Amino acid sequence: MKKKATAAKTEDLFIFDAHCDTASYLADKPWPFRRSPAHIDLAKATKGGLKAQVFAIWVDPLFAPHRALKRGLQVLRALEEKAFDPGLAVKVTTVAEMDKAVRMGRLAAWMFLEGGHIIENSLEVLEVFRTLGVRGMTLTHGKNTDWADSSTDKPRTRGLNALGRRIVAYMERFGMAIDISHVSDATARAVLQAVDVPVMASHSNARKVCSVPRNLPDDLIRAIGEHRGFIGVNFHPAFIARSVYDQIEDYFNLHESEIKARSRGREDDPAFLSDLEWEYFQRSVAGNDTVVLNELVDHVVHIASIGGIDCVGLGSDFDGIASTPSDLRSAADYPALAAGLRKRGFREGEIRGICGLNLKNFMRRVEKRGRKG
Ligand SMILES: [Zn+2]
Repeated sequence: MKKKATAAKTEDLFIFDAHCDTASYLADKPWPFRRSPAHIDLAKATKGGLKAQVFAIWVDPLFAPHRALKRGLQVLRALEEKAFDPGLAVKVTTVAEMDKAVRMGRLAAWMFLEGGHIIENSLEVLEVFRTLGVRGMTLTHGKNTDWADSSTDKPRTRGLNALGRRIVAYMERFGMAIDISHVSDATARAVLQAVDVPVMASHSNARKVCSVPRNLPDDLIRAIGEHRGFIGVNFHPAFIARSVYDQIEDYFNLHESEIKARSRGREDDPAFLSDLEWEYFQRSVAGNDTVVLNELVDHVVHIASIGGIDCVGLGSDFDGIASTPSDLRSAADYPALAAGLRKRGFREGEIRGICGLNLKNFMRRVEKRGRKG
């Protein structure tokens, strides 16, 4: 019994994850939310002690420019139909609503957009998503939008243009989390300059530990921390270890002509092309994936050392990634992650922060700033 006072059991932890793509599966597969092959379903959430989750409404940029909004609404509807309507998760839009849902023993679910192309350059569309309950937006995905650059596209805006500044100003004013995961370094720096509100990188790791464009350089980690923002570590092995990233790149290069041949005649079918890419993404890591969660903890340690212990948390990217660390395969494995943090010397209060309280405090800061508007 004495142990209980110091070592919190996982069921006592407030596990709150800043990013998953489970909603895409709900939209595209006949899977129910209660139990499915996905990384996150209600059974796994319950088993792993997951209390609150940000569900990304992800739209492949292949749907841009004119089919992204429809696809976004379809993914949002899938969440409503399969998770909220049957009462398997509670849609929340404030920290108070989240706390209430969790007190009642329910899974609290936030909705964010991923990414900015979904709003089709319209603040009115963003406003509609806000009234539907969306409380954050990743500004880009893998391609530039007309107003912000992606870390995996050719620089164009080199920051934010006037429309981009209006969009982040709107988000600041109305209490929506501004998410800079996926954006280029220049765009991230421009966002930090443009707003006073803290910003988040919902699912990004440290470039110092794994040198890939999707990860954050130290100056951005420091700036996000100084602005009391949030960084959620991404469980994708390719963002944890450079060798896996190279392996995926090599695989895609090797199969480039095969992918092109299979795409022929389907160039105007984004759903087909998106599924095709996902198929090769899954194949690219099959059997070669040897990353373990202790390597993920290296990123937590680094981000905490640069940005501060209060800025780091979880941004699993579950169901958006084709593989996971071998000992962190789904939301059911969160107890192993908590144990892994403990083993590396994090104190109980720090583990509570990393597992969810840091994200909760960040959302509270965003919300407070929004109310003032
Ligand atoms: Zn993402």
